Amino acid sequence: MTIAPSIPFLDLKASYAELAPELDAAILRASRSGRYIGGEEVEVFETNFAAYTEAKHCVSVGNGLDALILALRALDIGIGDEVIVPSHTFIATWLAVSAVGATIVPVEPLPGSYYLDAASIESYINHRTKAILPVHLYGIPVDIDAICTLASAHGLAVIEDAAQAHGAKVRGKRIGSHGHIVAWSFYPGKNLGALGDGGAITTNYLQLANRVRNLANYGSSVKYSNDERGINSRLDPIQAAVLNVKLKHLDSWNARRTSISEHYKNGLAKLNINLPQAPQWADAVWHLYPICTSNLAHVRDQLQINLTEAGIHTQIHYPVPPHLQKAYQDLNFKAGKYPIAEGYASNLLSLPIGPQLVMDDVDKIISVLNSQQNLGITNVNNQVCEAE
Ligand SMILES: *Cc1c(COP(=O)(O)O)cnc(C)c1O
Repeated sequence: MTIAPSIPFLDLKASYAELAPELDAAILRASRSGRYIGGEEVEVFETNFAAYTEAKHCVSVGNGLDALILALRALDIGIGDEVIVPSHTFIATWLAVSAVGATIVPVEPLPGSYYLDAASIESYINHRTKAILPVHLYGIPVDIDAICTLASAHGLAVIEDAAQAHGAKVRGKRIGSHGHIVAWSFYPGKNLGALGDGGAITTNYLQLANRVRNLANYGSSVKYSNDERGINSRLDPIQAAVLNVKLKHLDSWNARRTSISEHYKNGLAKLNINLPQAPQWADAVWHLYPICTSNLAHVRDQLQINLTEAGIHTQIHYPVPPHLQKAYQDLNFKAGKYPIAEGYASNLLSLPIGPQLVMDDVDKIISVLNSQQNLGITNVNNQVCEAE
């Protein structure tokens, strides 16, 4: 018997290989330029990314977490201020709020959805609330129009965590300038990923762009003159050169992710699992493809084991919600406090998805999933994550 080669969760080596001649040339150009901080590569990327995201300004920084922290600082959010965040997100969203000393106010997603909606947020707003920090999780955008309307009615800032949503659109408009500041990550595994760390903010407000630029540069706009206590957070020119190449391919790579998601949707339709869905008004970019199994104990975990045995690598986003992490133990959130986030931690399983995943492998994943009779996922009478 021959063992079929396994299907990786995300093949970053294949992503590099597809663009190797272009990427190598860009890296060589940056290496030979003599300019290793800032300079033309970085400026060109900021111009290109602002144009792509339909924003007036882009300021590149060292990574996505810094982008969020600098966004909060540029809006003067700090000790005593409350920031509304999703209970279900990657922990960086929470860490940014903690880093500026502000108070985290978690809000649960609607059952069956993965993101904040304006109606659920409203009752958490009080006189200490300063900002709403929605996350376009998994590449499925939130209804940012509704959130901005709510925020403006209450005089609140909106900071978007768009680390998983490069290229996503809401009602035809790209994510990038709906909120006051949008934070981006170019971590290698993101839809637009560097060959190392990178991040940026985009905004339509020149004053906020300038403030982030100063804060990311030791709090200085003139060398050796420091207006405030900033940090050092920069995108390297070599990474900017890489991103300038990869940005040109982002739409076509996102389109491949969308076809894979369609293929999964059709191929898994008969199973007793919930599939991620993009609202009608959204163009999702399918950073991840999490399926949701029933609440029955261990179905998800056994499914992951079975898939691994069949050579299919999956991941969990995320196995422990932020409020139950040791990092937040001092805030005394008890298990059961955010049941939707906790349910997702037990029931979600992210299937492979990425621009270099071939359809033959998607078909194989679909057929292995359809053959899991022993787990009850082929029996439509079990209870799954409640649908929207
Ligand atoms: C990746 C990610 C971040 C952090 O980005 P880094 O560049 O890794 O610091 C923040 N928020 C979300 C939702 C992410 O997925």
